[in-house]
Amino acid sequence: MVEANRTVVIPLNVPEESRSDFHRTILPYAYCQQEAVEHCWPDTPKQPDDLQTSKQDAEDALYDRLREDTNEQLHSNLVQKAIKDATSAVSSCKTSWENGDRISKPDFYDREQSGYTMTYDKRAATYDRYEATFSTRNGTVTCRYELPAEIEGTPYGEYVLDRRWSFSTSKLVFDGERFWLHAVMQRQFGDEPVYAPQTDDASSDTHNEDTHRVLGVDLNVDGATAVTSSGQFYGNADALNAYRSEQEQLRGELQQTGTRSAHLRFQQRRGTEWRYYDQYAHYVANSIKQEALRVHATHVAFENLTRIRKRISNLPKFQQWLFKKVRKYTEYKLEQYGVTVDATNPEYTSQGCSRTDCDCVDEDNRDGKHFECVECGYTVNADYNAAKNVGFRYLSEELSNPAGRTCSSGQATSQLALVSGTLSLTGDFAECDWASTDKPHPQQASGSSSARAQ
Ligand SMILES: [Zn+2]
Repeated sequence: MVEANRTVVIPLNVPEESRSDFHRTILPYAYCQQEAVEHCWPDTPKQPDDLQTSKQDAEDALYDRLREDTNEQLHSNLVQKAIKDATSAVSSCKTSWENGDRISKPDFYDREQSGYTMTYDKRAATYDRYEATFSTRNGTVTCRYELPAEIEGTPYGEYVLDRRWSFSTSKLVFDGERFWLHAVMQRQFGDEPVYAPQTDDASSDTHNEDTHRVLGVDLNVDGATAVTSSGQFYGNADALNAYRSEQEQLRGELQQTGTRSAHLRFQQRRGTEWRYYDQYAHYVANSIKQEALRVHATHVAFENLTRIRKRISNLPKFQQWLFKKVRKYTEYKLEQYGVTVDATNPEYTSQGCSRTDCDCVDEDNRDGKHFECVECGYTVNADYNAAKNVGFRYLSEELSNPAGRTCSSGQATSQLALVSGTLSLTGDFAECDWASTDKPHPQQASGSSSARAQ
C-alpha cells in the first residue's frame, strides 16, 4: 500500500459574522500550544536531549488540565492538536540545535504577526468537496470554498474533486486578512487495480478490432454526478444543486431591486453562473475521459437521455442540459483517441442486480444510494451497480447485436471495465455466457489480453 499526500491551498469564504468565532477560538488554542511548549522546554536546557518531543507524553501529562483550564470550550481534538503543534515545534528546535544552529523557545503568543494556524483533524472538522465545517468555541462554522473560475487542471479539480483522494488532517490558516484551508489530500494506491502503463504491446492489443472494452457510466441528479463501472465517482450533484438554489435566490433579490445596475449585475451573474456549470460539465467529462484511457476502454456507454427521463421522473431541464453536456464533452474529448461514446437503454439499470450469476430485477433492491439484492444479497453502492448494468446492457445489446456493429467471428472478446479487472465474454455473443473475473487477480492488472476469462 502506497500513500500519497498533496496539500491544496483553498481560499475560504468565512461568513462575516463567523470570523470572530475563529478569532476567539485561537485564544484557548494558543494557550494549549504554549502550555505544551512550557512543559516540553525546561528552564535552562543544557543539551538537545533536554527538550521533550514526545506528543504522547505531553498529552498524557497535560490533556486533562488543559481541557479544564479552557473550560472545555475547545473541541477535545483541538486540544490534542494544539499539543501536537507544540511538540512538533519543539522537535524542530531540537533538530536545529543538534545541527549546531541557534534556537529560541517557540512562542505561540507572539502576536506581532496577526495571523495564526489551527490544526483540524476529521473529528474537529468535516471536509467536503465544496465546503468545510469547523468546530469553534461558539459551535460549528461552515465555510464554502472559493472555487477557481476554471476548475480543469487546477489542484482543486485534480485532488479535491477527485474521489480517489480524501481529506486528511488539515490546517485552517488566518493570514491577518483572510482565511485559507491548507487541505491535505491523501490517496491510497494499491487497493485498486493498477493498470500497466500502455506499452506498444498493450496498445496493439487495445486496438485489436476484436477486443471491446466498455466503460459504463451512470449519471445522477444527486450524490456523484457520474459513476463508472470501474467504481469511480465524479462531481458532487448535491453541492451543485445547493449552488444553483443560492444563485437563484441572489438573482431573485437583484430582480426585485429593479434598478439598471441591478439588472446589469443580474446579467453578469447569469453569465458567471453558466460558465461555472459549463466548467463543471467539462470537469466531469474530463474525469470520465481519463478513466476511459486508464482502463483502455474502446467504448464508453451512457444511458440514453430521452429514456432516462422515464427513469428519473420529472428530470429537471437543468439536469437534462448537464447530462447532455457531459456526454457531448466526453465524446469530443475521446474522439482523438478512437474511443466510441454511445448510449444504451437505461431501463431497469438501477433496479437490476449487476452480479452476472443473478438476474434479479426488483424495485426493492434499491433504497436511495443503497443497493441490496433481495435474491442474492449482493450489497453495493446503488450508482456503481447501475453503472455496471449500463455497461453490461451496452455490451450485450449493442456490441453483440449481429445487425449492429460487426464483431468478426469467434475470436471476439468483449469486456466490461470493472473496479477490479474486467469481466469478459469470449466467443459466441448470442449465448451471453458471462464469465466473472470480478475479483482481484494479479494478472488482471496488466493490459486487456490477460484479463480475459479463464
Ligand atoms: Zn442478485
